[in-house]
Amino acid sequence: MSSIKKINELLKEYFGIPKRQNPLPEPFDTLIATILSQNTNDNNSYKAFNNLKNAYANWDEAAGAKRTAIEKLIRVAGLAPTKSRAIKNLLVDIKEKYGKLSLDFVNKLSIEETISKLTSYDGIGVKTASCVLMFAMNKNICPVDTHVHRTTNRIGLVNEKTPDKTFWKLNKNFPEGIAHTFHTNLILLGREICKPTNPNCAVCPLKKVCKFENKNFEIKGTSSNKRILLLDNIGI
Ligand code: SF4
Repeated sequence: MSSIKKINELLKEYFGIPKRQNPLPEPFDTLIATILSQNTNDNNSYKAFNNLKNAYANWDEAAGAKRTAIEKLIRVAGLAPTKSRAIKNLLVDIKEKYGKLSLDFVNKLSIEETISKLTSYDGIGVKTASCVLMFAMNKNICPVDTHVHRTTNRIGLVNEKTPDKTFWKLNKNFPEGIAHTFHTNLILLGREICKPTNPNCAVCPLKKVCKFENKNFEIKGTSSNKRILLLDNIGI
C-alpha cells in the first residue's frame, strides 16, 4: 500500500524518526506488563510489574506460585483476580506447550497465526499482542490503538468501524521496515493534532493528502479576516 509509505514520509518530515528502546525490551516481560497495564495508569501497572519481578527470581518461579500470591502482588494495578488468573494461566500453558517461558515459538508462525495464538489467552487482545510483537520483537506489524484507528480512517487509508478491523486491513501487505516509525508518529499526530474533536488541520502535515470530509481550520480566537489569511497561507 504505497500511500502508507507516503504518509510515513510526511509524518517523518514533521515529527522525525522516533527512537527505539535499545536493547529491545524482553518479550515475555512486555507481555506480562501489558496485561497488568489494562484499566490502570502507568504508575500502578509499573509498581505491580516490579512487585512480581522482585518476588520471583524468574517467570518459571512465578509459574509455580499460587494464583492468590500473584493476585496479592499485583493488587495495586486493579482487577487483580482477573489479571492474576490470566498471568498464571499464560505462564503455565506456555511452559507446558513450549518447554520454556519465551515467545521464541512465534518466529515459526505467520502474523495471523501469532496473533490468533496469543489472543487465545485471557487478557491478551489484538492490540496487546501486536504491541509486544512490534516493540519487543521488532516485527513489522503496526498495532492499532484508538489514535491509530481514528487517524488512519480520517486520512482514508482504511474505512473500518473498529480498531481490530482497522488492524487487519492496515497490516495486509504492510510496507517493509516502517511499522514502528509509522505507528509511533501516528500516535503523536493523534495526540497533538488530529484529536478526537476539533482536529487542528491547519497545522497538520497531512492536510493535503488527508481525505477527511470534516477538516477543521478554525483557530480559536481568530477573527474571520485572519482566518482567511491563514487559509491562504496554507494553500486551501
Ligand atoms: S488533516 Fe485534519 S483530519 Fe486529516 S489527519 Fe490532519 S488533523 Fe486529522
